[in-house]
Amino acid sequence: MIQQPHSLSEDCARLGRELRLGAPAPEAVLVGALQDPEYARNLFVCRETPSMLHFLLNNPPQPKAIAIAPQQTSAPEHSTLELVSKASKSFWAWTKSGFQTVTDEVYAARLASCTACPKLMTHPEKAAYALVSLNDKICADCGCVVAKKAKLPHETCPASDPQRPGLNRWGELISQ
Ligand code: SF4
Repeated sequence: MIQQPHSLSEDCARLGRELRLGAPAPEAVLVGALQDPEYARNLFVCRETPSMLHFLLNNPPQPKAIAIAPQQTSAPEHSTLELVSKASKSFWAWTKSGFQTVTDEVYAARLASCTACPKLMTHPEKAAYALVSLNDKICADCGCVVAKKAKLPHETCPASDPQRPGLNRWGELISQ
């Protein structure tokens, strides 16, 4: 099957439908929702409160400043298209889950694993990261921003743990 190119305008249209706007959501609102889980959650919570929704639509979060560690110059092999597509798919899966997040304990354990992982790196200067978080660390294996990824129950670590067969580096079972 031929993979269709990912389109931000499709996501804007979908977000507009989900929020019952009668029009595509502005791109800044989509970017804000991908970048800021709290903002995304509030958009959906306020769907039935026009004044609040209007305020949120007119005040999306501002993109964060770029901060790249000079000693880290190697970029993972992930195309901008792939990263945008991945962030978008994860976002829609998260909306379907009812905006669930893992417990604080699970989140802390996942982040501790990432912090100790050799695959953790500072993001390269790529446009895709404007859609997520520009000053958080990313996973070199999947290209995801780990501080966001680790919060979501449907996400998983892509690397097997060399010390623990059958588990990934988050200590979770690797699904077959
Ligand atoms: S998600 Fe897994 S492979 Fe990626 S940085 Fe975290 S622990 Fe390492």
